[in-house]
Amino acid sequence: MDVEKLKRSVEGRGWSFKHFATGEEAANYLAGELEGVSVGIGGSGTVDAIGLYDKLTGKCPDVVWHWKEDDQDAARVRAMNTDVYISGANAIAETGEIVNIDGKGNRVASTLYGHKRLYIVAGKNKVQPTLEDAIYRARNVAAPLRARSFNVDTPCVKSKELKCYDCRSPQRVCCGMSILMYRMMGMEKSELILIDEDLGM
Ligand code: SF4
Repeated sequence: MDVEKLKRSVEGRGWSFKHFATGEEAANYLAGELEGVSVGIGGSGTVDAIGLYDKLTGKCPDVVWHWKEDDQDAARVRAMNTDVYISGANAIAETGEIVNIDGKGNRVASTLYGHKRLYIVAGKNKVQPTLEDAIYRARNVAAPLRARSFNVDTPCVKSKELKCYDCRSPQRVCCGMSILMYRMMGMEKSELILIDEDLGM
């Protein structure tokens, strides 16, 4: 992983870049950065692993994460109307593009529109040399692992090999893919937070 190249690429695309050795350091940074603002969170094993939700709930007036609420669909909608949105990434190219695949679309939508600030939190395992490699990882590593975690009825769950079959299963978990290429117009701040740990899927 070429962190300097990634930093240059991301900053050249209008983003800020932060780099932490541990998830705990990243979570502490975000808890300070986001004090007093409302925060929505997308489904993310990385956010879960670094304990961010608990750190934010004491500091922010509203922290909306459907993983923590009984009515998940209502929480997904509420999370689309917060000041700040936090998401993981399925893959990041050293050339600066960020790739995410969604089933319902709430996470992809909220990284594109509706918030003043966006923070993408990702472990070093998500970084790939090129955009092509990043799309490959999102489709053939992150998505099948997510499908397996849900134990849905799809070929990527049944097969031994970790790969996507571009299935037509009604339980398919990958229905839309976004590639963030530049800070979205109208967003005050977009920041990539890279952590020197393997996190998420
Ligand atoms: S499209 Fe289907 S086979 Fe491919 S990763 Fe998604 S659920 Fe699995």
